[in-house]
Amino acid sequence: MRQSRTFIPTLKESPSDAEIASHRLLVRAGFLRKVAAGIYEFLPLGTRVVQRISRVVREEMNRAGAQEVILPIMQPRELWEESGRWAKYGPEMMRLKDRAERDFGLGPTHEEVVTDLVRSNLSSWRDLPLNLYQIGTKFRDEIRPRFGLLRGREFIMKDAYSFDRDEAGMQRSYRDMYDAYARIFTRCGCTWRAVEAATGLIGGDVSHEFMVPAAVGEDLIAYCGDCDYAANLELAEYRRAEPACGEGKPASKVHTPEKRTIEEVSGYLGLDPERFVKCLMLLVEGRPVAVLVPGDREANESKLERVLGTVEFRLFNEDDWRRFPQYLQGFVGPVGIEVAEVIADASLRGAGGLACGANDKDYHLVDVEEGRDFKPHRFADVTSAREGDACPRCGGSLHVEAGIEVGQVFQLGLKYSEAMHCTYDDEHGNTKPMYMGCYGIGITRLMAAVVEQHHDERGIIWPVEIAPASLHILPLDYQREGRRAAAENLYRSCLEKGLEVLLDDREESAGVKFADADLIGIPYRAVIGKAFDEDGLVELQVRATGERERMSAKRLLSRLADLGVRIRHEA
Ligand SMILES: [Zn+2]
Repeated sequence: MRQSRTFIPTLKESPSDAEIASHRLLVRAGFLRKVAAGIYEFLPLGTRVVQRISRVVREEMNRAGAQEVILPIMQPRELWEESGRWAKYGPEMMRLKDRAERDFGLGPTHEEVVTDLVRSNLSSWRDLPLNLYQIGTKFRDEIRPRFGLLRGREFIMKDAYSFDRDEAGMQRSYRDMYDAYARIFTRCGCTWRAVEAATGLIGGDVSHEFMVPAAVGEDLIAYCGDCDYAANLELAEYRRAEPACGEGKPASKVHTPEKRTIEEVSGYLGLDPERFVKCLMLLVEGRPVAVLVPGDREANESKLERVLGTVEFRLFNEDDWRRFPQYLQGFVGPVGIEVAEVIADASLRGAGGLACGANDKDYHLVDVEEGRDFKPHRFADVTSAREGDACPRCGGSLHVEAGIEVGQVFQLGLKYSEAMHCTYDDEHGNTKPMYMGCYGIGITRLMAAVVEQHHDERGIIWPVEIAPASLHILPLDYQREGRRAAAENLYRSCLEKGLEVLLDDREESAGVKFADADLIGIPYRAVIGKAFDEDGLVELQVRATGERERMSAKRLLSRLADLGVRIRHEA
């Protein structure tokens, strides 16, 4: 690529809506432009990065035995009715009608379409296992698109679907995909971590997310410093400490005028917040439910969702408090409460010496014991793990960090094959449903995640494997005959050898050329400047480390090959 002829509209200023480095830098460096909220254009350099990532993904998927297909974005409602997701997916699915008023959805994922394809064309055990994948555009009507490519409404994904005869086969396919993902993210230059994950709208029982640790990540991950336990905070477990006991004193009522919050009451009573029982009032499918958690813990929404078995719940709002006046906002507690269900966090089992609301205005109870003074209907894990909690596997210390989810793998089991009658005949002629798995990688999100991990204050620093080009040739003072000829020669020999190269043939100052090169972030740079006039040597610069090394143009290419740059035709 000649920079003078390539569409790379770099900007001095960051876009005003860019809150994070990847968004800011990808726009400033001329990789991306926004069309509407969460919808982007990929300019030539951005397109090259998408292609580089896709190349890595294809190589590893093919190596794992998956076969590439192209599936439609526009999918008929009928297929989604079969799986029950037409209703379940809600407003996140983009929907439209054709001219005959037939309903279609723009695919946020492709389980229905691929299951239909397989059930209509395969029926023998001999055809299995099968794994089909595609790389294509997906749509998700995010309520709040933001952070550039991290939370977009239109994005590029790789999705794969495996079909097996039995559960053991599904687990083998899952393991193969897991291993392929490990290779993909490593080759793309990420530091990553695989964590146990919730299955959400996709479904199934077992799932892992691949997380790229980054401060701007919207997911929180708990991981153990001593063993390999790691899980999304949505389901991360932690080992409860032995509950504190009371001194056997009977519960007593204390006057706590105008003290409503945990901080106010525990401060007033001189008690640790963890000895306080927070009684959360939830409206669950229209009826009140009380959830008890220690005063120093937060209830975890995803855990509640699984414990309650529904997504239809919320904390009491002002209307609910008015509708159910028997519950006194600020003074509600588990002792003597009349409610259909009381669920307590596991850490409260057998605890004593507790304080809680007295269900009486301006009063709290102290010296309360679980089991003696109140009995929850059930105990469950409903609170979030946090830094320093004990690992559920080994008792070691848990750490919590933020991450960007770049991939997820699922063991779907029979969810779609039973609903959609995707079956095969085994060797004895028995008809059985296929065991499925599905596996996604957010290609464009991965691009942003890589930038989050690889940048400095001057710009992007692309890992070699997915850089828009491997080498950036920077002749300073391009009109100087000797330098220009050397740059053109080097450019030609790079092209002959199949090396991806960008030649800055613009008549710009050295300052502008270096600033743009830093911003764009091509990993290696060949500078042809003053030193070249003296000894004819080119300076190889490494964008990541700033290291410099002078050598002949001939030697430069073999040096790059040593550094791991892919050169198609070795001389
Ligand atoms: Zn552990």
